[in-house]
This record gives sequence, structure tokens and C-alpha cells, in this order.
Amino acid sequence: MHELSIADSVLEAVRAEAGRHPGAVPVKIGLRIGELAGVDPDALTFGFQALTAGTPWNGLAIEIENTPRRHRCPTCATEFRVVEYRSGCPACGAARTECIGGDELELAYVELEEP
Ligand SMILES: [Zn+2]
Repeated sequence: MHELSIADSVLEAVRAEAGRHPGAVPVKIGLRIGELAGVDPDALTFGFQALTAGTPWNGLAIEIENTPRRHRCPTCATEFRVVEYRSGCPACGAARTECIGGDELELAYVELEEP
């Protein structure tokens, strides 16, 4: 399962962050997932639950922020959100624009509980 390996690598990053604060336990993490990333948030949440069950991290809360697809116009530098695959520039009408966001998958924050 794709989402399970994503959950695993995110937990690696959380582990690294928690390692800088001895004794602290992560209680909540925030993820930023672009709509082009092709990640199913429910499957990802399930993956985290499966991986943290029975560990001290059991009950770790996950907040997922979905980020929209964004394009930038190389002609007039306008940045805009793409809705329903209409990727033409809304400002100058240029047909060719470049994708600048919406495929990210990042750990936005880790909330730690100090002992
Ligand atoms: Zn433009």
C-alpha cells in the first residue's frame, strides 16, 4: 500500500524531530498534501494508526491540510489556483502556464509534549 510507506517515511521525520527533544512525545503532526500528490487522506490516516498502534505514539493526532493545484504564468508572472483543469492565465489569457504547487507532501509541523 502506497499510503503505508508514506506514513512510514513521515514517521521517520517525526522521529528525527522528536529525537532533538529527549523524552518528548509527539502528540500531533500536521501534513500538507497537494491535490496532485495522489494520496488518499483516509488511507494515510489508517496507515498512521496501524504503524503507531501499541507504541508510545498510539493516539498521535494527524491534521491534513490539502493544498490546491497552483500555476504561474511565465508571461505576466500571475500565480493562480487551477480549477477544473483550466490552466490558462486568468490575467493575460496565455494558454501555457507552469505548475508551481499542488504535488507537495510535507510535514508541516510536529507538536511535542515535553515530559
Ligand atoms: Zn499571464
